[in-house]
Amino acid sequence: MSVNKLVIAAMVVVLTASSIFYSQQVQAWGFWAHKRINRIAVFTLPTEMIGFFKEHIEFVTEKSVAPDMRRHAVEGEAPKHYIDIDHYCSFPHACVPKDFDEAASKYSVDTLTAYGTAPWNLKIAYKDLVYAFKSLNTNRILRECAEFGHYLADIHVPLHTTKNYNGQLTGQKGIHAFWESRIPELLGENYDYFIGKAVYIDDVEEKIWEIVYESSAAVDSVLNFEKKLSQEFESDQIKAFEERAQTVVETYSEAYSVAYNNMLDDMSHRRLRTSIINLGSFWFTAWVDAGQPELSKLTKYIETEEDLKAEEELKRQYREEKIKGREHPH
Ligand SMILES: [Zn+2]
Repeated sequence: MSVNKLVIAAMVVVLTASSIFYSQQVQAWGFWAHKRINRIAVFTLPTEMIGFFKEHIEFVTEKSVAPDMRRHAVEGEAPKHYIDIDHYCSFPHACVPKDFDEAASKYSVDTLTAYGTAPWNLKIAYKDLVYAFKSLNTNRILRECAEFGHYLADIHVPLHTTKNYNGQLTGQKGIHAFWESRIPELLGENYDYFIGKAVYIDDVEEKIWEIVYESSAAVDSVLNFEKKLSQEFESDQIKAFEERAQTVVETYSEAYSVAYNNMLDDMSHRRLRTSIINLGSFWFTAWVDAGQPELSKLTKYIETEEDLKAEEELKRQYREEKIKGREHPH
């Protein structure tokens, strides 16, 4: 080994040892889960669609996280990922109009933006998806499908539907990433990915709100069970240090994660599966609503020089800039 290499090796050791920190970087579902949801949703599609999607499965997988990266680049992106629906009234949230204009005149656009616009944004995103299929533009179809997958998956996460989104109101800071990243990343390889076939959704708007209500109904369990468990565990057994990509991060211990997951009866797994089948069904429904265009006849997807530049810039902002809008784990 040359002297230079020795110096570099020594530096790596020092850097590793000095980079113990709390892992605060959390996303909506973790990146792992978002990619998994988009990827597996492809296999729920009917014969007329699956060939096209399989051909572009890497794109659909990788671009599932673009909306989270964009939160660091684009003002106004963040609220599309959540709705603190319990800010308005408690479950079943009958006070919140499903129609955006009605909701806006009742609460004001500023208020809706402050507490998240996920379900209303999804309705718009669905229309964009239908237009994309109608346009027969490969690029546009793939992008809209991948990003719709992100926003739809987000509303399957209970903590995306509450003002106590990171347990910050109940002394449980960190629970957001615990539920949606730590648990699926720890246990996800053993999840059951036989999901079934996509079905046509008769009322898209109704379905979006139904998912929000289901998530909201699970919020109490997500928070209360962790509270209870934290009182049963020795405090030094709750967190542990783990090595990730040359850094050491503090995270929930494996024993604590498994115990929590058991209390929740595998909820992260169940919501991930529901995200997958619902995503396949929304893609399928959009394709039908667009008049079932023949996907085998579309032009090849070509990534232009401009696309690549935009992608690089997005990645840079994600790495170097803070989230625009409220500091929020969504
Ligand atoms: Zn998100």
